[in-house]
Amino acid sequence: MLALQKIRPAAGLELVEVPVPEAGTDEVLVRVRAAGICGSDLHVDDWTPSYAFIAPSIPVTIGHEFVGVAQDGPLAGRRVVVRPSVTCGSCAACSAGRHDACERRRGIGMTRDGAFAPWVRVPQRNCVPVPDGLSDAMAALTEPLTISMQALRTAGDVAGLRVLVMGPGTIGQGIAALARRAGAAQVVVSGCDDAARFDALRAMGFEALVDVKTQSLAEGTRPYTGGAPFDLVFEATGVPETITEALALLRRNGTVVVTGIHARPLTLDLTPLVRNQQQLRGSFRPPESDWPLALALMGEMDAVLRPMVSHVLPLARAHEGFALAHGKQASKVLLCPEAGDA
Ligand SMILES: [Zn+2]
Ligand SMILES: [Zn+2]
Repeated sequence: MLALQKIRPAAGLELVEVPVPEAGTDEVLVRVRAAGICGSDLHVDDWTPSYAFIAPSIPVTIGHEFVGVAQDGPLAGRRVVVRPSVTCGSCAACSAGRHDACERRRGIGMTRDGAFAPWVRVPQRNCVPVPDGLSDAMAALTEPLTISMQALRTAGDVAGLRVLVMGPGTIGQGIAALARRAGAAQVVVSGCDDAARFDALRAMGFEALVDVKTQSLAEGTRPYTGGAPFDLVFEATGVPETITEALALLRRNGTVVVTGIHARPLTLDLTPLVRNQQQLRGSFRPPESDWPLALALMGEMDAVLRPMVSHVLPLARAHEGFALAHGKQASKVLLCPEAGDA
């Protein structure tokens, strides 16, 4: 079968022929229907330092945001989405059934083979059945939506708050949609030269969009806020310096929730943060129990979230898909292995 792999610890990804995997104990084979290209896949392609941890697993098939059809096990024949974080099953937390606390994880599409291929082998317990009404394109967004859900949880109650979302990618789009749904008084989204993602956000009903390519964040947000500070800022850019800009626009006692994976450290003047009693919080993986909730939410929010997916390409055109994503010409690109077989 054709698979998009990282085959050496350097920049680049290659479409290579590999054998169809076989399911091991407590695993199932999934026939992949659609898999999204994620920002972290672009980092793996570029080989940025924050993804060097996958080096020992090379060669590895990437792709971790996907929907497919389970071939065996209790969900055989059903469409499933798959939690990409694979717990070890043997540490103290796993043995006690507290899988969310597992410290020895492997990542499907990072440190074990992923879904930019027609078939992927996954643990049975990672599969979550997809409701019939939900399209493959929406279901493929489940993993990023759970990341957005966790960001909202980390922030706390957003009702009535003035919210800035920095970074208009899939995570930022999801955060914006969930914040509005949770009653935020205002949602402003900033990006840098992100026209395709702003188009998606407009289609989702967001008009307060700021392009920091042509103006400062402070200047660009002023027409929407009248210069009032934000109560809450979500960072989904992966650009560390945006944290400094966020804190400058945040009110006293306000909160910044950081979700980006940052390729380098940040030098930050902490004194204003201390004097203004501002909170800086990291947000990462949601509990496993969020997955069915995310699928239900997507059913309710289908019309709002649908514009997030801008391109659907066969797997054989993976390099074109990555070029679109790298070049910021896409909102979200999905690769479909079955289309690639034709
Ligand atoms: Zn991802
Ligand atoms: Zn464990």
